[in-house]
Amino acid sequence: MPIYLDYSATTPMDPAVFEAMRPYFVEKYANPSSIHSLGRAIRDDLEKARETVAKSIGAEAHEIIFTASGSESDNMAIRGTAELFRDKGKHIITSSIEHKAVLESFKLLEKQGFEVTYLPVDTNGIVPLDAVKNAIRKDTTLISIMLVNNEIGTIQPVREISDIAKKQGIIVHTDAVQAMGKMKIDVGELGVDLLTISGHKLCGPKGIGALYIDENLKNDFKPLVVGGAQEYGLRAGTESVPNIIGLAESCAIIMKNLEKEKAHIKSLRDLFEHRLIEELGDVNINGDIEKRVCSISNIAFRYVEAEALMIYAEDICCSTGSACSSESVDASHVLYAIGVNPVDLHGAIRFSFGRFNTEEEVNRAVDILKESVEKLRAMSPLVNR
Ligand SMILES: *Cc1c(COP(=O)(O)O)cnc(C)c1O
Repeated sequence: MPIYLDYSATTPMDPAVFEAMRPYFVEKYANPSSIHSLGRAIRDDLEKARETVAKSIGAEAHEIIFTASGSESDNMAIRGTAELFRDKGKHIITSSIEHKAVLESFKLLEKQGFEVTYLPVDTNGIVPLDAVKNAIRKDTTLISIMLVNNEIGTIQPVREISDIAKKQGIIVHTDAVQAMGKMKIDVGELGVDLLTISGHKLCGPKGIGALYIDENLKNDFKPLVVGGAQEYGLRAGTESVPNIIGLAESCAIIMKNLEKEKAHIKSLRDLFEHRLIEELGDVNINGDIEKRVCSISNIAFRYVEAEALMIYAEDICCSTGSACSSESVDASHVLYAIGVNPVDLHGAIRFSFGRFNTEEEVNRAVDILKESVEKLRAMSPLVNR
């Protein structure tokens, strides 16, 4: 049986989530915009789901917009904000280690006449606050910095960035897709105006995301997708009710079990790293060891090509670079940004742990990795013998 250590790419659905969704495919199929009794019943369920999702991040229900993905939420937040304040200023800020959904949104805006600052990160993969302060100009309208990086798991100082931005009247968005379920999230404490989450990274369904928009910003916001008046007129299209119910159930489980789950995932990740460091050696953990979520371990195996290792260790499902860019031969833009040396760049693999992993799986994965790495190192001309 393959061992799934790729929870940052996507997660298995929790059976409880699947059970919560099931009725909405067959019996509870009415359109929540219909005014008949069946439609109204679904509308009630949908609005309860919105409340649950809102509560899980410390927001109000009317500040939650359901979208089709984390990528869509990122696009809506960034492109919507830039457009909204176009007359006020055309300078916007992000970091060089964002997810492609964020980076490509900024690139698109660049083509449309906006000026973008891509902030560097330090060698631990953290955006320095000084860099944020120095980048801000009179015409800056938006800062988008991810809460947790999807490749190395580093936690960014979003709260501190919001504090800086607020003083200048700058809107702040954070992509919290990898943070949700791995740490407590409260939009008030973070001080952000917009926040992205995605269902399939939370043991929930694929094809559902949510965007938190602060109520002060929401009234002026414009939709990316126009048509019907769904989602407060901010996102047209009949709601994917089963997916929305599934996302809400995922959020409810997180609210109930966050501390227990964090401890479970962290114990597995730590076991994995400790064994590799002690029993294999010549491994380097990329990113900040402390300011990091419990779920991600980005490891460089010295003298070994990541792709070769993944072929040898084929029973372990993991990622080189990020899954979205695994077809490109370019090294990861994140590892490049944190200045990983060229030898380690090509031996780096992301292992990501989650709810249904077991200690037995982790021990088996370490055994497989040890055997594979030792075989590859024995063949490597780089090893100094
Ligand atoms: C997976 C991911 C996304 C995209 O979410 P989708 O729902 O797959 O579109 C965005 N940002 C980060 C950090 C992610 O890990």
